[in-house]
This record gives sequence, C-alpha cells and structure tokens, in this order.
Amino acid sequence: MDFAEAQKEALGCKRCGLCNSRTRVVFGEGPLNAGLFVVGEAPGFNEDRDGKPFGGASGMLLDRLLLRSVGLAREEAYLTTLVKCKPPEGRSPKPAEINACRPYLLAQLDAIDPKVVVAMGDLASRALTGRKESASRIRGRAIPLDGRYVFPTLSLQRALYTPADRALLVSDFSRLPELLAAERPTTYETLNVPRVAGLAEAEREPLQPGLW
Ligand code: SF4
Repeated sequence: MDFAEAQKEALGCKRCGLCNSRTRVVFGEGPLNAGLFVVGEAPGFNEDRDGKPFGGASGMLLDRLLLRSVGLAREEAYLTTLVKCKPPEGRSPKPAEINACRPYLLAQLDAIDPKVVVAMGDLASRALTGRKESASRIRGRAIPLDGRYVFPTLSLQRALYTPADRALLVSDFSRLPELLAAERPTTYETLNVPRVAGLAEAEREPLQPGLW
C-alpha cells in the first residue's frame, strides 16, 4: 500500500473496533521529506476533535521540545500515532488494534523514509523496536533498524505530570540534532515484526553500545 492509498483507506477504515470510538481519523501530518518522524500512542480527545496529532498540552510540550532542543518547528517533522483512531475512555490501544493499524504506519514510514524515528512511550517503543523492555529502560538510545535510527523515549503524557520525567525527555531530545546530522546506520536489520500479525516474540539483538 502506498502513502496515498493508505491515507485514503484510513479515512474510512473499519479494520478494528476503534472505528466506533472515533470522531475523526487522525492519520498524521508533516512533510513527506521529513528527517524526523515522531510516533505517539493514539489520538486523544483534542486530536479526535481536531483531526490533528499531538494537540492540547502534550502537543504544546512537543512543540517546545522540537523547537528548543532540536531547532525544528512542528511543521518540519512528520507526526503520527500507532493507531489513527481514539480509543474509548482514554485507554491505551490493544495489541490487536495496533496490529490492525500497522499497515498505515508502515506506509507512512516507507514513503517518508525518515532518518530518525522517535518512539514516544512504552507501546510505541515496543512496536517500533520489537523489544520488550519499557521505554524508560531503553530511552535515549539510537537503535539502528532498516537504515534508520529508532529512538525510544518517554511519553509526553508522563512528562507533563512528572518534572523528573520531563527533564529526561528534554535530555533525550537534545541528542536528536546529532543523530539527524549523522550518516544513516549501515547495519541492516529489519523490523522483525509481522506486517499484520502479532508482535515478534524473540528478543532482538543487544543495543549498539557505542552510539551514545
Ligand atoms: S485505529 Fe487504525 S485500523 Fe483501527 S479503525 Fe482506526 S484507522 Fe482503522
């Protein structure tokens, strides 16, 4: 599925039950040549209302992080979420919902081909790295996958309410300019997750210790 097909299909998608809890599909936004690709968990109330990713207080925090730590305006990064529809009652998306929505995320990654993918929070970190550890255990490390760096970090939501976590997020984002300026990783490693079925069970290779 190419990007245009994915976008068109997603707007009317009923692949999973989240079609019943959404007002609007929040596909994602940003330039198709973005070097930085940011993936959150799921749309929330504000995103569902506006049809745009990373709204409300979380979006304002992300905007500040991008501008102050990376030197990028929001419009210069591609922003999206693991699932494109708001789960009910503020819950996290279930594995089956993440898997149902995965083809859209893969189409976005294929089309944009970013150098750095920031995976925000545990679910995004696990889905994009295939690793089982929490984001707090592997945060701030650059994991080479498919010729890109996947960079797990904490969720914006967590950072909003915990100053210590916010400081960690600022620290992680401050590493992104160096990563964006680096050559793409030469290590070839596929995502090692099925495109539509469940997440990989096997542990991945150890992290690249010398990157940071
Ligand atoms: S979350 Fe994704 S797979 Fe589920 S209905 Fe929405 S667009 Fe389709």
